[in-house]
Amino acid sequence: MMEYIATIGLETHIQLNTNTKAFCSCKADSWGDVPNTNICPICTGQPGALPSTNQAMVEKALMLCLAINADINMDSFFDRKNYMYADLPGGYQVTQNDRSIGRGGYLDFLMDDGREVRCHIHNLHMEEDAGKTKNEGDIRLIDMNRCGVPLVEMVTMPDLHSADEAATYLTRLRQLLRWLGISEANMERAHLRCDANVSISPKESNELGKKCEIKNINSIEAVRTAINFEIERQIREINAGRKIEQWTIEWDNDTQELRKMRSKETAADYRYFREPNLMPVHISEEFLESVKLKMPELPIRRRERFINELGLPAYDASVLTTEREISDFFENACKIYNGDNKRVSNWMMNEVLRVMNETGCTVSELKITVRDLADIIQMVDQKTINTTTGKNLVDMVQKTGKRPKLLVEEQGLGLVSDDAAIRDISAKIVSSNPKEATSYQNGKESLIGWFVGQVMREMRGKADPEKAKEILLELLKKN
Ligand code: ZN
Ligand code: MN
Repeated sequence: MMEYIATIGLETHIQLNTNTKAFCSCKADSWGDVPNTNICPICTGQPGALPSTNQAMVEKALMLCLAINADINMDSFFDRKNYMYADLPGGYQVTQNDRSIGRGGYLDFLMDDGREVRCHIHNLHMEEDAGKTKNEGDIRLIDMNRCGVPLVEMVTMPDLHSADEAATYLTRLRQLLRWLGISEANMERAHLRCDANVSISPKESNELGKKCEIKNINSIEAVRTAINFEIERQIREINAGRKIEQWTIEWDNDTQELRKMRSKETAADYRYFREPNLMPVHISEEFLESVKLKMPELPIRRRERFINELGLPAYDASVLTTEREISDFFENACKIYNGDNKRVSNWMMNEVLRVMNETGCTVSELKITVRDLADIIQMVDQKTINTTTGKNLVDMVQKTGKRPKLLVEEQGLGLVSDDAAIRDISAKIVSSNPKEATSYQNGKESLIGWFVGQVMREMRGKADPEKAKEILLELLKKN
């Protein structure tokens, strides 16, 4: 049987998180709002209404261009893409056709097996979103709240060769968008939408096969499943002696199935022409510089720095750079703690991220501060508290919002390293357990651990276990 290689290109639509829409001052994010309440003559395409370009949209698109090293067009244009559809009240979409804000560039990402992949970007352009339609029985309803919401459409080159690579690309893009703070990138809310072009060709051939386009993939898991299904379908077709036809396929998330929408008609004639009501988008050097200044250190760079400068293992560096806020929290905690960064990383990954998982809160909703984390680790280092208490403190701070040092004081969580107190308890334990004491003295030395455990339990975990062991060894020898 022939071996095949898959070739995949992705088209993503990214909803920018501006306050207002692309060309009018209606609120951009109307998630959950009553239908048709965030609209005006401009975004509903009324004749005579005059749009103007939202600078925040240009700025955010520019940040994405910079982050992927795209070539920036200092002068780009808006065009009308004409087609009739119920959710497009003006009969055209304002988009960028031949002269878009960004061209080229690439996104690098790491696969789970450590392999580095570079996916080149073909083009990046700004455009407005359309409305939403839904069927209720025989009636088709239209909600125009989404009309005119600013989008960036980003199209990759056919550089991806498996469903896993496509899913990882999208994960990385979502991370980047949130990191830059330009989109919420929530796929369930359609802030990030993905269409995939999939083709297969024999392994030794340089020619690409006919591609099919999968529309409407709305989660990263669905990207993986839908692309794998489509690759398998195409291989089945060819092995059965049939040809691949250029189809548009829809992914149905409810039934987890691919459904043929239509065969490829001749390319639609959108009769593009320059949008006459909008000025060209001119980016001045000053504006570009001001946007460059707003650019944060990018995740891939920060990950490298965590490895090379902070001495973290690659795994830790990846986990701690999944979100910008997490990596900021970690780095600030390191600065305050001013010791072994790997130790901070362990507490961060095992305790802080655990609390975030368990409570479902984000970094900004955490009650535990950078200072609190550093304080807790320091108290453990100085044996003011033991490790278990330290871990519990992370939860207690999150629950109460009280500072860890105060909690230790209020609840008497401090380790007792006072010899006399530990000696009293230890003596009591030894004398009330004569059988175990004799066994120990007759050579069953492993029992020392049991004795330490008894003392710790009696002192509700607050004894310094090393000190307790030292005293117990002494007492048991004397007997
Ligand atoms: Zn409007
Ligand atoms: Mn588009």
